[in-house]
Amino acid sequence: MIPFNKPYLTGKETQYIEEAVKSGKISGNGIFTQKCQTFFENKYSFKKVLLTTSCTDALEMCAILADIKSGDEVIIPSYTFVSTALAFVRQGAKVIFADSCKNTPNIDVKKIESLITDKTRAIVPVHYAGMACEMDEIMEIANRYNLIVIEDAAQAIDAYYKGKPLGSIGHLAAFSFHETKNIIAGEGGMIVVNDERFIHRTEIIWEKGTNRAEFFRGEVNKYGWVDTGSSFLPSEVIAAFLWAQIENIDKIQQRRLQIWKFYETELKDWADLNDIELIKEIEGASNNAHMFYLVCKSIGQRTQLINHLKENNIHAVFHYISLHSSPFYIEKHDGRMLVNSDKFTDRLLRLPMFYELEEKTVVQIIKEFRNV
Ligand SMILES: *Cc1c(COP(=O)(O)O)cnc(C)c1O
Repeated sequence: MIPFNKPYLTGKETQYIEEAVKSGKISGNGIFTQKCQTFFENKYSFKKVLLTTSCTDALEMCAILADIKSGDEVIIPSYTFVSTALAFVRQGAKVIFADSCKNTPNIDVKKIESLITDKTRAIVPVHYAGMACEMDEIMEIANRYNLIVIEDAAQAIDAYYKGKPLGSIGHLAAFSFHETKNIIAGEGGMIVVNDERFIHRTEIIWEKGTNRAEFFRGEVNKYGWVDTGSSFLPSEVIAAFLWAQIENIDKIQQRRLQIWKFYETELKDWADLNDIELIKEIEGASNNAHMFYLVCKSIGQRTQLINHLKENNIHAVFHYISLHSSPFYIEKHDGRMLVNSDKFTDRLLRLPMFYELEEKTVVQIIKEFRNV
């Protein structure tokens, strides 16, 4: 079977984990954690980075930092992963789902302003497939209405919008190092704080509501319970794994981009002939080769493709079920139709995409497309 994803190991993961274990300090916020955080701050000019145990955790921290309370409204695209909405719903927010663009699953910025009320507190754009949302427009709207922008950059490591790294534009951002992403730690993530107002509180929420970070820097002579929070920080074992990945980030990205371009070149004619849309490059957005997807002309065509590929040992998969029609939220949704979101729910198909995927395997996959 050609898998949909295969986690790539650089070879140094276990060595660094052994170093972490032997150092005798394996709880969080040690040497590897700090190395990882500093790397991201420097490479992507993020103001402050803290590793978390997942992107979900990072989003939960963002919801706490944005002071989301019962009755507040948060604008989120419906075509996204559960965590994007759940993190805010756990704080009591009402999620107002926005539709996707016609040509990409990203939030349609033209729809945002009509959804804003005096209860709106935040906008959470999701950079689907690592392709940037229209951040200039989103930041402009947010500034005009005094809203907080939280980038769900789970898929967007090493991706740019008009030259700026994704995750560096919103007030806050969340990344994932889940094994299905470009850079992995098994389960892992990070929160990025670009607005200085939030930095102090982020450290406290990260460490179970205590001012432990200040204590270790010698800024206070004892630490204690000062705010809400949770145990959001990963152990050094996870950070050590992540460090091995980080050291290879440029190599990983280069290879993924090669595979991505190869797919695009080889599939173009067939896609045109069969009325299938290929993933669109977006103006101003770089491509971090997180994902290669197609948009089929119908759900029937997609099912047929998935089945044919499966019969030939190729694992291609669809993606999100729009959250506005999920069992958990359908009754709470205000009933607006979200046609583009539904379109991607029904018709988007993701192809195998991972570091070790070889050109000859891509050729084999594409051959099966032609045989349908
Ligand atoms: C992967 C993903 C998440 C969740 O990441 P975890 O690290 O698994 O919590 C959230 N949002 C989006 C858009 C994702 O792709």
